[in-house]
Amino acid sequence: MYILLMGPPGAGKGTQAAKLVEKFGIPHISTGDMFRAAVQEGTPLGKQAKECMDAGQLVPDSVTIGIVKERLVKDDCRQGFILDGFPRTTAQAGALETTLSEIGITLDRAINITVPDDELVRRMTGRRICKGCGATWHIEFHPPASHGVCDKCGGALYQRDDDTEATVVKRLSVYAAQTNPLIDYYQDRGLYTEIDGRKEIDEVFDGIVGSLRSAGA
Ligand code: ADP
Ligand code: AMP
Repeated sequence: MYILLMGPPGAGKGTQAAKLVEKFGIPHISTGDMFRAAVQEGTPLGKQAKECMDAGQLVPDSVTIGIVKERLVKDDCRQGFILDGFPRTTAQAGALETTLSEIGITLDRAINITVPDDELVRRMTGRRICKGCGATWHIEFHPPASHGVCDKCGGALYQRDDDTEATVVKRLSVYAAQTNPLIDYYQDRGLYTEIDGRKEIDEVFDGIVGSLRSAGA
């Protein structure tokens, strides 16, 4: 099962990807997570990525395409994957198509989770991530049982540097300009499905699983 999870920042891609991993046992490949890991490790890639991320801009295509290609050829991708946050430009989508055809993989679905901008701002500014296991919470919409502590592993929660209101607004405008054209790209290839991301987390998940089933994935 080869799935693209599309949608603006804050739409719930990471939240849904975690549930898909649990249900289908396929790897979750998030370019945002890969860049944040590189920032943590203090690598040259991390330094370059951090500048772009903090400014709400995309990391250059050449860099991003390179790290995704390296990841997709790994053995664990042979049974499927959930790509989250990639592609984000038409150049990335073209590179993905070429790479997948080289390794003999056909995408099953490109699922776009849609949420209005005002709600996205609330979701991102209230998002909290676990330092221990990376689980995603929300102070209002998906709070852990005890404030600031992850239910899953007891780790401390933190707020992403790029989840401030000013950076969030910038990221949404970058998304509209650079990533929205991918809707036509995947519609033209007959792979596109839209899911209403305003619903409860479990309802969104049921919609995604239903669309995968009806696509025969
Ligand atoms: P993305 O990976 O698309 O940037 P996340 O999965 O990190 O988005 O979700 C953004 C924030 O919104 C998180 O704090 C998450 O807990 C919350 N969230 C995710 N899905 C929903 C939903 N259906 N309703 C309300 N809040 C949600
Ligand atoms: P995300 O975790 O998906 O919200 O991504 C966080 C940030 O990482 C983005 O704002 C970009 O700076 C960078 N990033 C993630 N994925 C990509 C991508 N496919 N292309 C370029 N930059 C990306």
